[in-house]
Amino acid sequence: MPELPEVETVCRGLAPHLEGRTLVQVLQRRANLRVPFPDGFCERLTGRRVESVRRRAKYILVHLDDGTVLIAHLGMSGRMIITPERPDAWDAHDHVVLETDVGTVVTFNDARRFGLMDLAMAETLAEHPLLRALGPEPLGNEFSGPVLAARLAGRMTSVKAALLDQSVVAGLGNIYVSEALFLARLSPTRIAATVTGAKAERLATAIRAVLERAIAAGGSSLRDYRQASGELGYFQHQFSVYDREGAPCPGCTCDVAKTGGVRRIVQAGRSTFYCPQRQR
Ligand SMILES: [Zn+2]
Repeated sequence: MPELPEVETVCRGLAPHLEGRTLVQVLQRRANLRVPFPDGFCERLTGRRVESVRRRAKYILVHLDDGTVLIAHLGMSGRMIITPERPDAWDAHDHVVLETDVGTVVTFNDARRFGLMDLAMAETLAEHPLLRALGPEPLGNEFSGPVLAARLAGRMTSVKAALLDQSVVAGLGNIYVSEALFLARLSPTRIAATVTGAKAERLATAIRAVLERAIAAGGSSLRDYRQASGELGYFQHQFSVYDREGAPCPGCTCDVAKTGGVRRIVQAGRSTFYCPQRQR
């Protein structure tokens, strides 16, 4: 499933192909994805010039010159494929096609169809049902230790569960919550409300750091992509603890034979990876 860094990378990959370009043809190849397409979907996009491609949480926001905003979510398996011209044939999972005035084609392909697309107007975008309950953007200027502490205050769930709550921080998923808690040396089972002061500061800094590191890795995959496949959405990334059960903890020098290395536990049905020696 694409997480925030992947979505950011997709936005950065789309921007040079869409910004300033006019959408001369828009194809919708089925009636619905996870939800139905809005009425007049293709008509409202056709002929419009793209002003910017932005990201909010894990949503891609394509701003158009008449104030319309295309909201896209990649779901579990969505990809954006950029080709210099129309392909000879469509894949069964090519659901939406945007063709620009220079002939470039952006195809949204989603085999599992958990993705979605909707339209909104820029002036009421923040009130859109998908966006209005979202917490602060972790890479935004408004995010800080005190802001995070205030959002965690009074929450008696685990800090892991609290960070997955999109109203606490926007866009964090299972992978980067594990990674950020590791970097901040905080146990995922700690009660969220106890993360205050210096701990909250450490956690906010760690969240930014793991996301920025992953985006940097995505940036290098983007450079590869330009020479290669044309598909945006996923990249390989080395994690410290995520999916590394039993591996030596990269933060400790302790003996794996004695400690068991990185531990996996299940919280609210999701795997959490952490080091019990280092994270308290
Ligand atoms: Zn450790």
